[in-house]
Amino acid sequence: MTANRRAFLKSAGLFMAGMSGAAAVSAMPTARPEKFDESFDVVVLGAGGAGLTAAIRLAEGGKKVLLAEKLAFCGGSSLICGGGVAVTETDLQKKAGIKDSVDTLYEDIMRTGGQLNDKAVVRAYAEASPAYYTWAMKHGMVLNTENLSQSGSVPRNLSVNTQKSIDAWTKLAKKLGVDLRTNTKGERLVYDAEKKRICGVVLSSKAGTRTVEAKDGVIIATGGFARNKALLEKYVPRMKNASTICAMGCDGDGLKMALAYGADVADMPYIKATFAFNLKATSIRDACWVFRDGAIVLNKEGKRFCNEEISKKDIGDYVLDQPDAVAFNLYDSAIREDAITMDESGGSVTYSEKKGLVLKGDTIEEVAKKAGLDPKVVRETVDRYNEDAKTTGVDRDFGRKHLVDISGKIRPIEKAPFYIFPATAVLISTYCGVKINGKAEVADVFGDVIPGLYAAGEVTGGFHGRSYLGSTAFGKALIFGYIAAETILKA
Ligand SMILES: Cc1cc2nc3c(=O)[nH]c(=O)nc-3n(C[C@H](O)[C@H](O)[C@H](O)COP(=O)(O)OP(=O)(O)OC[C@H]3O[C@@H](n4cnc5c(N)ncnc54)[C@H](O)[C@@H]3O)c2cc1C
Repeated sequence: MTANRRAFLKSAGLFMAGMSGAAAVSAMPTARPEKFDESFDVVVLGAGGAGLTAAIRLAEGGKKVLLAEKLAFCGGSSLICGGGVAVTETDLQKKAGIKDSVDTLYEDIMRTGGQLNDKAVVRAYAEASPAYYTWAMKHGMVLNTENLSQSGSVPRNLSVNTQKSIDAWTKLAKKLGVDLRTNTKGERLVYDAEKKRICGVVLSSKAGTRTVEAKDGVIIATGGFARNKALLEKYVPRMKNASTICAMGCDGDGLKMALAYGADVADMPYIKATFAFNLKATSIRDACWVFRDGAIVLNKEGKRFCNEEISKKDIGDYVLDQPDAVAFNLYDSAIREDAITMDESGGSVTYSEKKGLVLKGDTIEEVAKKAGLDPKVVRETVDRYNEDAKTTGVDRDFGRKHLVDISGKIRPIEKAPFYIFPATAVLISTYCGVKINGKAEVADVFGDVIPGLYAAGEVTGGFHGRSYLGSTAFGKALIFGYIAAETILKA
């Protein structure tokens, strides 16, 4: 062999090694080490609603659990969310005389998701929800009220006090022996090539990097990726510039870890921003869903642009397409009274009024002018809508028949004084991600389960379909945290 050829092969060899070396660091499976630094039955990544629920259920079932949270505190978006959780067949529904069933909840979720949801995953949620609710009420869940708000066709939403519940779950997890470590980040999954399963994780903390064995599996519960602009741009380019309100840890770490092992994804194109947050919103309190009580929604031209009975996420899509992404909720004093009576979790009419964010006028024209809208156009819009509300009951422009989803009937806006709440759509959650089955097992791109890998909560996709039924995102986190634990306990 000539010197030149040797040099060529050597450099080619180095090049190849460089390629595979780089890949091994960035994405390829981290191989099982000869000896792990530590060993647990299950490692749960992320201490939000999903992770805490899974860890508690597993520890209660006798498993040795490590729960790693990358921030200094637990809770994630679950801590700052509105606290709505859609469940069915609860004692609260029975007490209030509300007829509901697993099938009705299933149908409501599927309808809102445009029938694009994964049926088995939705079915698993609906079926597990009564048992989860009973279990959670005995395991630290604290409600703000026993009143249920509407989700889909019937009132079924719990109003969870997120601060008190996360505190209680954190304490309970520790009491049950969960090794809960904050400031500890999941970096990579570890793969056992011989057993062909995920067998651990690489964790990093101030103390350095450690390999941790997870004999029964790893549950990824790291939340969504609303703060990761690169991932948002990759999957739904229009969301790259949407304003965001979510927890600091929503960077998509878990999604990336699962992708590195060939996990499939679902619902990625359906990331949606939520209407209606005030224009200076910084928290869930800054939202106000008065369109669900009958308000109509106008753009800067004073015209309606969608059917307001659809989900607040779908309205969000329309709003982002309007000039300056601003929309105006217009309502009268009768709608205002109902909205105050309902006062849903999250923001409210009274809160928005106290903050000086609601405009008021004795006539439609007066309030329109205050909002900077053309009074004549707004008057015409309202007259047209009112005529339909009083005659056919179906709005001729967008087909609105109901107040929200399939409940309530549209009503004329005619009782002075009149109000306008200017608002926009904000991205609070990503509603898509790692594909799971009804047992919270992660599926790969060939449709096979990745042994030893589970996911729960906002990091997962497939459940919501093209749009989300109110209160099923926090619900998804809690219930699939529970389901993931049950799957491991039954294995
Ligand atoms: C303002 C707001 C209001 C909302 N209101 C509602 C509502 O009323 N009803 C509803 O259904 N949904 C609501 N949602 C959505 C819902 O809150 C979330 O989808 C759900 O709580 C997510 O729970 P989770 O446990 O999957 O994730 P999170 O609660 O976000 O927890 C994930 C945790 O994982 C941690 N983590 C991330 N990466 C790593 C890593 N590499 N290693 C270790 N830890 C990591 C994070 O720091 C975080 O603590 C709302 C969201 C927001 C932001």
